Amino acid sequence: RHVYVNGDYLPETEARVSIFDRGFLFADGVYEVTLVLDGRLVDFSGHMARLRRSLGELDMPFSLAEEKLLEIHRELIERNQISEGLVYLQVTRGVADRDFNFPLKSTPNTVVLFTQKKSIVDSPLAARGQHVVTFDDLRWRRCDIKTVQLLYPSMAKMQAKAQGADDAWLVKDGFITEGSSSNAYIVTTDGTVVTRDLSTDILQGITREAVLLCAGSLQLRVEERPFTVEESENAAEAFSTSASGLVSPVVSINDKPIGAGKPGSITAHLRQLYLERKRASAI
Ligand code: PLP
Repeated sequence: RHVYVNGDYLPETEARVSIFDRGFLFADGVYEVTLVLDGRLVDFSGHMARLRRSLGELDMPFSLAEEKLLEIHRELIERNQISEGLVYLQVTRGVADRDFNFPLKSTPNTVVLFTQKKSIVDSPLAARGQHVVTFDDLRWRRCDIKTVQLLYPSMAKMQAKAQGADDAWLVKDGFITEGSSSNAYIVTTDGTVVTRDLSTDILQGITREAVLLCAGSLQLRVEERPFTVEESENAAEAFSTSASGLVSPVVSINDKPIGAGKPGSITAHLRQLYLERKRASAI
């Protein structure tokens, strides 16, 4: 597999990043994961807009133009023959002697990209539906910034798996924020799609934005508001969204079946419309 590191395309075994990289020592970096369908990028400009936002919120200088980033994404897709999968992009504040103070603004970023060849559309989890369990949301209070500081979501996911579930949904003050690496939704018994409103409590999902547009096109009522674990347990359907999971049904929460305990039909319609639109608009 070829990867990209600071201007070079290299076999992954030859790629090197300094142990003094701020991403390594301080998790001082941001990332994006972009879906590839049919060898083309889904919502590329949305991901790059969010990257700029994350960088801005962290006061991290970065000068690579979007056209250059597109060229690198495409080059890796080509070299690694990715027809379906993901492209991972990480930007850190660069290499500096270990110090809590940020280095000079002129410090070059570390920019790394790699691909993951993956079957995304035909995932078994999407067919059978996910079992989720809830955990206290112990992340920092700027979940709107897509930083590489992912230890807590990773721990929550591991604990969910240890309990025989597929994923963790996180709960803050009694209300669900989002999944460990996805946005969270319920469909109420009257057919309303509910997902938490945007704030610093959740990541502004690129898939979320697209799926809410799909919901509008399907004439579904949408409410962006906090919802409780209890409301989720009593919902007709539930699902999560992310670039890597698309629209993914959730069939139980804390061992309580949601609706019929099977992937729901509104979820299936949203997944289908989302895929249709994204296959058509990928670049
Ligand atoms: N929320 C969190 C915490 C995530 O890590 C992710 C994706 O990785 C998402 C939501 C979904 O975002 P997107 O749809 O842009 O992949």
